[in-house]
Amino acid sequence: MEKKQFEECKRRLLEEKAKILERYLAKEETQQRLEEESKEPRDWEDIGQMTYTEELLDNLSQIEINTLKEIDYALKKIEAGTYGICESCGEEIAYERLCAIPWTRHCARCAEEVEKESGTYLPSYGFEPMITEDIEIEREDLGES
Ligand SMILES: [Zn+2]
Repeated sequence: MEKKQFEECKRRLLEEKAKILERYLAKEETQQRLEEESKEPRDWEDIGQMTYTEELLDNLSQIEINTLKEIDYALKKIEAGTYGICESCGEEIAYERLCAIPWTRHCARCAEEVEKESGTYLPSYGFEPMITEDIEIEREDLGES
């Protein structure tokens, strides 16, 4: 993947994370805090490093929580240098696919396999997140669904 494409994927991941977190912030009527923060330009790196509290997770849907987890997982993979590589076959995931689902873990071909096996593949949100231990979530029962 070209560096420029890589940067674009990262930006989209952070943007999506910010969107979800802002939806929560709006719900919680923490507008004042937002106003204070908006005096300074929003820093994507800060958003990347934001962690979740139990309170926040209570206010998000399961889909949003899963998406947040997948986004953080993808961001960790960017740091680790393994982003954009299919977890099943090790091939590079097509850039078009990463544009559509920047947090996807599998190439289109392997995603189809997953779908066949589980019968419930959701193109937008992928499948059950397999990792819980290295994501900074302070709630223990999130893994159950
Ligand atoms: Zn694959």
